[in-house]
Amino acid sequence: MQRIFSGIQPSGIPQLGNYLGAIRNWVNLQADHECVFCLVDMHAITVWQDPAKLRSQTLTQAAILLASGIDAEKHILFNQSAVSAHARLAWIFNCVTRLGWLNRMTQFKDKAGKDRENHSSGLYVYPNLMAADILAYKATRVPVGEDQKQHLELTNDIAQKFNHDYGLEFFPTVEALIPPAAARVMSLRDGTKKMSKSDPSAQSRIEMTDDADTIALKIRRAKTDTDVLPADEAGLEGRPEAKNLVTIYAALADTSIADVLSQHEGQGFGPFKQALTDVVVNTIAPIAQETTRLMQDENHLVKTLRSGAARAQAIAEPIVSEVEKIVGFVK
Ligand code: ATP
Ligand code: MG
Repeated sequence: MQRIFSGIQPSGIPQLGNYLGAIRNWVNLQADHECVFCLVDMHAITVWQDPAKLRSQTLTQAAILLASGIDAEKHILFNQSAVSAHARLAWIFNCVTRLGWLNRMTQFKDKAGKDRENHSSGLYVYPNLMAADILAYKATRVPVGEDQKQHLELTNDIAQKFNHDYGLEFFPTVEALIPPAAARVMSLRDGTKKMSKSDPSAQSRIEMTDDADTIALKIRRAKTDTDVLPADEAGLEGRPEAKNLVTIYAALADTSIADVLSQHEGQGFGPFKQALTDVVVNTIAPIAQETTRLMQDENHLVKTLRSGAARAQAIAEPIVSEVEKIVGFVK
């Protein structure tokens, strides 16, 4: 059975893109993989996090994942900082990765923007920690949204250089599992920008704990154009906001874009947005309700994460200890 590793940052409340690009696939992959799911709190602090909020967001995120169908008994759910193997391997990878490789990473450019000099060095070496997360478990498959494709290519470059430098076939090749539909959900305010849980505007995203009224309002306010819905996909070209809403609808209704357009062709955005609201609420409402229930027992959530961390540690510790011996550290 192949081992999966995937993570999500507790940098906010998970949004619909996280659900469609990652969480929904994690739930399905549990049937025939050994899964390690991680709340990557060490990644989250690469940009400023209020400590009390980081803690509460980590627990909320654990609840959302459980409510979405992650099985923390059969599989592993834990927070990254609880297993020291991640930090130890990341340091070794800081010494494997070349600066030129990191300079090509588009996520750093997107997040740091023009204010590059004022960002943390952690944000810059983020991809090395991500490679360590995956390779500390020798995971072979990583389900992610399209935005993480470049970081996974870098993970393979790091693994290959390590294997080459030390003359061993130690780390496996990692395969990105990117969903065929809705792999990059766009912001509701700007169809050229990815939906993100850390975007300063809450109006840009649908959060997994939003109630029906909030969802309806956000979708009603979502940016669109003045045309009606076209008959086919070609008619969505050059209309990023329209394309995004149709893509979300198709992904949530488990149907194709062509199918959605054949049902709504010629409609204005008023009625389409109402139909979309229903589809979004149908998915999110039960998850939000179960999240609220799970949040009432914080102790149970903490215990679940601790148990996951102990089991994660049991896999990662021998692998990272072996890496340290390979490098020449006295153990
Ligand atoms: P942040 O803004 O803090 O980076 P984020 O919303 O980008 O948060 P991450 O925790 O960085 O979320 O990513 C978690 C997972 O969700 C990753 O697999 C990522 O590829 C996926 N993902 C994030 N945003 C989207 C999106 N808009 N569409 C599809 N998948 C996404
Ligand atoms: Mg992100």
